[in-house]
Amino acid sequence: MKRGKKRRNNSYSVETTLIYGRAKTPHWDYSHHLVPPITSSCTYRLDSAQRGAQGFVEFAHTTDEVAVKARAPIYIYDRLGDPTKDMLEETLARAESGAASVTFTTGMAAVSGILGCLTATGDEIVAHRMLYGCTYSLLTNWYPRYRIGVKFANLTSLDHLRHSISRRTRVVYFESPVNPTMQLIDIRGVCDVVAVENRKRSAESRIYVVIDNTFATPFCQRPIELGADFVLHSLTKNIGGFGTDMGGAVIGPAWSRDRLLLYRKDFGGALAAKSAWPLLVYGLPTLSLRTRHQERSAIEIARFLESEEHVDSVTYPGLTSHPQYEVAKRQMLDYDGNFAPGIMIHFTVKGRTPKERRARGERVINYLAKNAYTVTLAVSLGNIRTLVEHPGSMTHAAIPPEEQVKKGIDPGGIRLSVGLERVDDIIHDLHRALGQLR
Ligand SMILES: *Cc1c(COP(=O)(O)O)cnc(C)c1O
Repeated sequence: MKRGKKRRNNSYSVETTLIYGRAKTPHWDYSHHLVPPITSSCTYRLDSAQRGAQGFVEFAHTTDEVAVKARAPIYIYDRLGDPTKDMLEETLARAESGAASVTFTTGMAAVSGILGCLTATGDEIVAHRMLYGCTYSLLTNWYPRYRIGVKFANLTSLDHLRHSISRRTRVVYFESPVNPTMQLIDIRGVCDVVAVENRKRSAESRIYVVIDNTFATPFCQRPIELGADFVLHSLTKNIGGFGTDMGGAVIGPAWSRDRLLLYRKDFGGALAAKSAWPLLVYGLPTLSLRTRHQERSAIEIARFLESEEHVDSVTYPGLTSHPQYEVAKRQMLDYDGNFAPGIMIHFTVKGRTPKERRARGERVINYLAKNAYTVTLAVSLGNIRTLVEHPGSMTHAAIPPEEQVKKGIDPGGIRLSVGLERVDDIIHDLHRALGQLR
């Protein structure tokens, strides 16, 4: 926000909001705490049968009634809602420019939660052909049992998307950047295609655009501002940041909150208050600070990798060499509108054949696992520690090398999640590891 600029509704920047949440919340009386308390109660005392009954009437029943909104909510049972996750949800909605948010135990519970709310037997999901492994497994191993169809399409082509949509389509689902290739999908482009299709449809048969924004974080990209209906996160990753707690969240339009709460109540993936608390108190308040620092390191690391003789290609949205650099500059922006290409890098090592590239990639990884101080071999991402993994032999090992190449995964590819260490220390470790290929 520019200094002295007139503020709408006296509002403060999102970054500051991530530290404070709402200055005064009806969720909890903690006016005299600097840090909100961790609530640790599975059930809640009800003063009377009437209060209990009223609580059940009000649960998942958003109302405009001024008297209800003015007083503290009636809490009943932790699975339905509690003050800590309510506060977290409010701040997450603000972070993503959404109207409402509901949290879940894990990112996968958020994925299955939103898809469960939007689809029924006979419906179809159009998904990008590359997805987070467990999301792919959910769609291919479980959804056929419920007769929910899945069509995989190359969503980097809007024509391909147009041809993939059928009368049964209810959801268009993707990640951008795509894991692990760091390809981008034009979010506004996809939303525009779906909007044109929706004009021909009734409200019941409309298509929703759902984006997994875990890689980019709301600091770097806010899909709802670009036309998406829903955003979801694995809070376990960048938003948690410190790698101590699992969590997931869906952010979407106001009407969706009640439905998501009902789904969570019955399917049971409610985030524990003890896990919501570190996300609220440590994760969100430091998200901007961490991401800005990690991004500054990521661009330096990406440029260093490009200059290394044994590195074949580096895919990072902040590099002008990224094939979709223009898309990156359009849609990956921080809260001030500055280019924010994120903290994830994918690179490949040289080798004549896919097999050789795979073996050489593994050599780099193994060297890092044994010898590096600042680069840890581990899945997950968005941690304060730099993490590295080898999709070819780990997260995507089930796919044969030839198939991996067809899907755009190079067998020698290495995925890097940049942490908070001094960048020259990270580069030192990477340089030594790549030196092994000589
Ligand atoms: C990790 C991850 C998930 C799943 O989140 P969990 O918290 O592990 O359940 C979903 N999508 C992406 C892109 C992820 O990286």
